[in-house]
Amino acid sequence: MTTVRRLGIASVLLVAFGASIAYYATTLALRNGHGESAQNVPWVALVFIAALAAGGVMAFWKTVQRDINTISSQMDTMAKTGKIGLVMLESTGELNQIVKPLNEFLTMIRRQTEDLRVENRELQIQFRVAAAEKHNTEAIIFSISDAVIVTNRFDELILANEAAEKLLGFKLTPSLRKNIDQIISNGTLVRLIRETRSNGRNITRKVVEHCIDQKGSPRTFNITLSCVAAPADEVSGVVAVLHDVTREKEIARIKTDFVSNVSHELKTPLSSIKAYIEMLLDGEAQDEKTTKEFYEIISFDTDRLHRLIENILNISRIESGVVKVVREPISLTSVVKQVLDVAVIQAKSKNIRLTDSLAPVYYQIEADRDMIYQAVLNLLSNAIKYTPEDGSVNVTVNVDERRKVAVCEVSDTGAGIPVDDLPKIFDKFYRVRANEKMAKGTGLGLALVKHIVETVHDGKLTVTSEEGKGSTLAFELPIIV
Ligand code: ADP
Repeated sequence: MTTVRRLGIASVLLVAFGASIAYYATTLALRNGHGESAQNVPWVALVFIAALAAGGVMAFWKTVQRDINTISSQMDTMAKTGKIGLVMLESTGELNQIVKPLNEFLTMIRRQTEDLRVENRELQIQFRVAAAEKHNTEAIIFSISDAVIVTNRFDELILANEAAEKLLGFKLTPSLRKNIDQIISNGTLVRLIRETRSNGRNITRKVVEHCIDQKGSPRTFNITLSCVAAPADEVSGVVAVLHDVTREKEIARIKTDFVSNVSHELKTPLSSIKAYIEMLLDGEAQDEKTTKEFYEIISFDTDRLHRLIENILNISRIESGVVKVVREPISLTSVVKQVLDVAVIQAKSKNIRLTDSLAPVYYQIEADRDMIYQAVLNLLSNAIKYTPEDGSVNVTVNVDERRKVAVCEVSDTGAGIPVDDLPKIFDKFYRVRANEKMAKGTGLGLALVKHIVETVHDGKLTVTSEEGKGSTLAFELPIIV
């Protein structure tokens, strides 16, 4: 039974009790002849009832207030701890009517909060996985040496790696979400990206060769453009990968030149040898002096042929590591002298003054004699080849006892080498364009010298040159102490 009901019944009983007392007191007063005091009885009863009723209301109010305090403090704890529980009352008071639906409501909220918490946890996991995947993808893109640009369907930049920043001259962070025509100055590249995006899924991937100026020098790129397709079949962006093929194209050109140069190089001495042998067979050399001269020419051209073939073979043998190196104590000076004996003929034919200044022979290096001979020969024959008639070539061997090295220097007063070509002259098949007309060659001589000096003998090869004035190529090797 609720407090209100209990209070109602108590009030009815109170009124009934009061009325009975009033009736009994009035009857008693009338019977005893006190008609006047009988008139006051109902008032006294009323005051008595009112006092009892006030006491009842106060008791009721106290109960309600205690329940409200209990509810309020439990709700307060829930708000503070964030833990939704049930509201519990000590008594089965009137407020139980409110507490029941309130608890149902709290149970529902608790269930929904729990569901949201599970959903939130799943979303957090998904977010972390997505962030890790994004990080991985970016790390892959940043590690690629080719320039990579990613744009969205509005042609705005959304990703680019360091190579792209360097090549196209922009900074990623301030350029993000900007239209590519505000970032990339190369109009063709911007047009290619736009076309790829607007062609959409019709052409998903294409490769275009395009030249881009980099710090004043043009470089050729293979640009691979691919559409990024969204699940709803529409294009969500474009990925452009720019691969620098300048060097590859240069090598292809050099190789083609090499084949024609090698065939020419082989043909020239061969034709000469054939012609002089035919003349000898036909008896055109009538005296001993002419016969000797013919033999000398045949011998010189045979040497040339031999040198060329040796160069080609040696370089591939050294590169593939199959060459057998015979190291022994040798005198660099005596090897240079041997080379000078051979080169003097070549120098004479161009009226080139060949001078030398060589260290004493007792200084020794630990090296492969044939290889060192080959290296010195290549340097000396280049000096003569690229020096115009009447020039001069000087060969020196010096020993630096402090550094414990023997240095061989070949200097000439020839054509010199342009600064831009200097870092490349030791590359296989590389020939300096400006000097190509001066002499035939294969671009293998210096590559072989570098291999012999640096790869096989741990030495050092250097070049200094001034265009039109001459060059000095030098190598140093440790001496035996
Ligand atoms: P090549 O067979 O063409 O002579 P090398 O490898 O010996 O090939 O030399 C590479 C290039 O370096 C040559 O084509 C030449 O242009 C340049 N070069 C080498 N030595 C000299 C030099 N002493 N003076 C000028 N240019 C040189």
